[in-house]
Amino acid sequence: MTEGNFVDYVKIHTSSGKGGRGSTHLHREKYITKGGPDGGDGGRGGHVIFQGDPNLWTLLDFKFTRHYKADHGGDGSKNRSTGADGADCIIRLPLGTVVNDNETGEKITEIVDEKPFIAVKGGKGGRGNWHFKSPTNQTPRYAQPGMPGEECHFTLELKVLADVGLVGFPNAGKSTLLAALTAAKPKIADYEFTTLKPNLGIVRQRDYSSFVMADIPGIIEGASEGKGLGHYFLRHIERNAVLLYVIPADADDLFAQFSILRNELKKYNPELLDKSYVIAISKSDLLDDELKQEMKALADKTFTDDKVLFISSVAQHGLTQLKDRLWDVLNS
Ligand code: GDP
Ligand code: MG
Repeated sequence: MTEGNFVDYVKIHTSSGKGGRGSTHLHREKYITKGGPDGGDGGRGGHVIFQGDPNLWTLLDFKFTRHYKADHGGDGSKNRSTGADGADCIIRLPLGTVVNDNETGEKITEIVDEKPFIAVKGGKGGRGNWHFKSPTNQTPRYAQPGMPGEECHFTLELKVLADVGLVGFPNAGKSTLLAALTAAKPKIADYEFTTLKPNLGIVRQRDYSSFVMADIPGIIEGASEGKGLGHYFLRHIERNAVLLYVIPADADDLFAQFSILRNELKKYNPELLDKSYVIAISKSDLLDDELKQEMKALADKTFTDDKVLFISSVAQHGLTQLKDRLWDVLNS
């Protein structure tokens, strides 16, 4: 499991619009015997454009609609009037989508923001006859046809945002943990919502493998109703393979905190509870040995199969065990 995990994969067919024809119109007016050529240019065919949309989270729609067509350019007409450009076909994709050419397998682009990316250009419009007027030919009856559009087949692959997503209240120590395990430099502070965008870090694992960890805005009670950055946060969680609940050792009631977190996830999307998870009791340097033993006994009673680990990012304690544990869960 590395950055290259794909949750979603589709093929689509696209075509850009053909350019409109140039016009061969000759200007005629009463009492004017010889009108000049005044045929306008054809409009450009529509482009096929990919554009990131932060509100999309799957490629599901593409499983139902596979053909995407831009419009053709309009033909030129008299009075040198240019045909209308064909409407572009804008294909909205979730951030993290990799677009490949289906024929060559070549990577065309990766959608990382909302900037439009022209993937298939529309055909140029043909030039109207007035461009071809010359001393020897005052009334050309020739104009260019528009250039054809192009057909392209693409494969779309949606990357998992991260293998492991950190779930916890603000101040649980998530950012500090990410900084301790990876080269990422998230903001660390004593106030809520220091993390506004997910921070990703690569966790190096033994034997040259790695996995991606995401530090996301802290969840709060009511997040599922959209409080704080609730929905924004929860959507990110949907794209993580394994959840790591981070609960600080100095919390009033560790287990109550865990169930509030679970409950918020459930209210948002019950399937989130089906994800594999590990619980890290962070800041365990704040516990004395006796308290730690007590809590460990309670944790072992409450949870099966070593779900709970005590860690301290500051004292660098329990981090290797945590990595190993996450690795096992990711690969099980
Ligand atoms: P986040 O909101 O979950 O990202 O939490 P932060 O990582 O920003 O940490 C919140 C506070 O807890 C900061 O003041 C950190 O210095 C402190 N903190 C984080 N990890 C530890 C730890 O292992 N031990 C102790 N004692 N404090 C920690
Ligand atoms: Mg943080």
